[in-house]
Amino acid sequence: MPTPFVSSSVTDIHPANVNTIDALLSDLRWTNPAISYSFPTSNSPLFWSTQPGSGYGSPFGDGEPWSSATTALTTNDQINFERALQQWANVANLSFIKVTETSNEVGDIRAMYSVDPDEFTLAWSYLPGFSAQAGDIWINTLGLLNFQEWDPGSISFETLLHEIGHALGLKHPFFNSDDPAAITLPPNLDNTIHTIMSYTYADLAGNEGNEFSFHPTTPMLLDIAAIQYVYGANNNFHAGNEAYNYDDTHAYHETLWDAGGTDTLQYTGTASASVDLKPAGASFIGQPVYVQSNGVNVGSPVPNVWIANGVTIENATTGQGDDFMIGNDNSNMLDGGSGIDTVRVQSQREHYALSKIPNGYTITANTNQGNQDTLTNIERLQFDDIKLALDLDGHAGQVAKLLGAVFGTATVANQEYVGIGLTEADKGLSYEQLGELAINAAGFTSHDDMVTQLWHNLFGAVPSKAEKSPYVKLLDSGEISTGALAVLAADSHFNTDNIHLTGLMQTGIAFV
Ligand SMILES: [Zn+2]
Repeated sequence: MPTPFVSSSVTDIHPANVNTIDALLSDLRWTNPAISYSFPTSNSPLFWSTQPGSGYGSPFGDGEPWSSATTALTTNDQINFERALQQWANVANLSFIKVTETSNEVGDIRAMYSVDPDEFTLAWSYLPGFSAQAGDIWINTLGLLNFQEWDPGSISFETLLHEIGHALGLKHPFFNSDDPAAITLPPNLDNTIHTIMSYTYADLAGNEGNEFSFHPTTPMLLDIAAIQYVYGANNNFHAGNEAYNYDDTHAYHETLWDAGGTDTLQYTGTASASVDLKPAGASFIGQPVYVQSNGVNVGSPVPNVWIANGVTIENATTGQGDDFMIGNDNSNMLDGGSGIDTVRVQSQREHYALSKIPNGYTITANTNQGNQDTLTNIERLQFDDIKLALDLDGHAGQVAKLLGAVFGTATVANQEYVGIGLTEADKGLSYEQLGELAINAAGFTSHDDMVTQLWHNLFGAVPSKAEKSPYVKLLDSGEISTGALAVLAADSHFNTDNIHLTGLMQTGIAFV
């Protein structure tokens, strides 16, 4: 039991011999994963030993904890502090037990305000160790946290997550002149997108004025791996079938830890989302999150929803925009909703079998039948070597039919023409406008010329004057537009038979 004189017992942390883990490990962890915490309400020496050797030692800054600036956390601060503790308990085999301070018992982690003369110091904390300070977290009364609510998404909440990380035994992942031999992360990983123990926002240093538009609300990918290495994973957290719900009116910045079950990531909204279900995959979901310098967005949005290593999220559904999805090595049900939605398969086409099913397609890895994805409302499929349009009942069907009717059956295999048509259709051109575009591109010299060519494409023969004249008259009088006649020809069963539309529905149509 920790007292004002002595902390709970600690144990060595042994290296994992994995850079991304070791770069976050300090030397010691709490032996017992049930860790107590308290919110001191008094700076009376009754609660803070002044004994040399086992006491608080020489006061920090202007006198932690005996300074007159040492004050208790507000009720709201305590609520958010406990939320931050819970984020660590969600991912690791840890629990936190609140104790009320007495002269005989205090928490291992004690959190209170005190003063550091440097106002840019937000907070500081002590690693697990043998001293009475070990585990304690101090919030600077001169710093931002004393002037801001600590709600998730704020820099304050991220700071709490960071300080608690220290209190549990995690260190900074960057060079420390006091410990120059310590393992560090490479620059591309030493940022708060990957670990909240970093001081760097994406590639901007954590200087005054630099921050995120919305800060991480959970330990991130590398934090989770490190804390799970030290204390074990929380294998009870979200062990059932979970639905993770997102929309485009909220901002998110988090890493999902999920212990099991069949899970679905569900996004609703008109803004496009990019979802990557792979372990350690990074997604862009909801309101974009930016690095900011003095409140101004810098560069592109940062990935803001990550999936922790070892986590399987089986299914995803996306919203009304043109969404992008990547599955994982399990069987995924991917539903794109409305919009032109793309599934990316990070492999060559030949390694997968594609099958039409009533509501969409299945795609199965040849070497792993357990990796069969079901695609619903997915219009496009991107392999490493080929792109396929699957929406033969939509834009791709219109493009294929018009190519067949206006340019002849062979052009349906012209991936460039298909790509041009899809681009225009996806931009919002109507079927008739698309028909007109095709007619104009074909460069006919007259209505007679146009009808002759369409007839030839459909029937494989040159029309007689009597056969073509009704159509030429309709065009000449303006009763039908060239685009509408092209659509009429495109939709005729002569044309859909010629281009094997039902066959294209099985295979999709290639485009560039
Ligand atoms: Zn720190």
